[in-house]
Amino acid sequence: MLEHLKTNNRAWAARMISADPGFFRRLEGQQAPQYLWIGCSDSRVPANEIVGLDPGELFVHRNVANLAPPQDANYLSVLQFAVDVLKVKHIMVVGHYGCGGVRAAVDGKRRGLVDHWLHPIREVYNEHRHALDAMPDAAARLDRLCELNVARQVKNVAADVFVQDAWARGQDISVHGWVYSLANGLVKDLNLTVSRPPNSETRELDP
Ligand code: ZN
Repeated sequence: MLEHLKTNNRAWAARMISADPGFFRRLEGQQAPQYLWIGCSDSRVPANEIVGLDPGELFVHRNVANLAPPQDANYLSVLQFAVDVLKVKHIMVVGHYGCGGVRAAVDGKRRGLVDHWLHPIREVYNEHRHALDAMPDAAARLDRLCELNVARQVKNVAADVFVQDAWARGQDISVHGWVYSLANGLVKDLNLTVSRPPNSETRELDP
């Protein structure tokens, strides 16, 4: 069963060892990634490959439509571990154009449980309904909604208590919003980066 995948795996492990004999032994001891990637489950958006990082360099959380819902225990556990234990320096929320999850959130068809999961995207759509509905091209409208969804998830991450507490402790973390293009393989930085507020120390001293 799945012999081709097992063959691929043996070849991959052998390649890694021939390039760096101590590679797996080192990783076995510990992981110390500097980055947390929050991305879509879409098979066309493989986190490590896109940014050229090896095993051990990227902590990854993926779900349908790259959501960071403040009530989701899975996402929150990943975030807390990344911030409190791994002490990552950067958190990237990475959406992608043509996202099927984003499309499914607003196409009006009923699919069951996933409709509940995608509800936050409908909220984003409703907030920007006028601007989005004014766009004549359906694909461009969907792509814009993908960007707006990333912006909302960046806000969620930055507002999270684990991140806020880390900033209050003086920990250095930046939260970024990116969108990946399936068409050309390139990541676009939406320039939404949120870092520790520079005056947070003085604010803490306020009564
Ligand atoms: Zn997607």
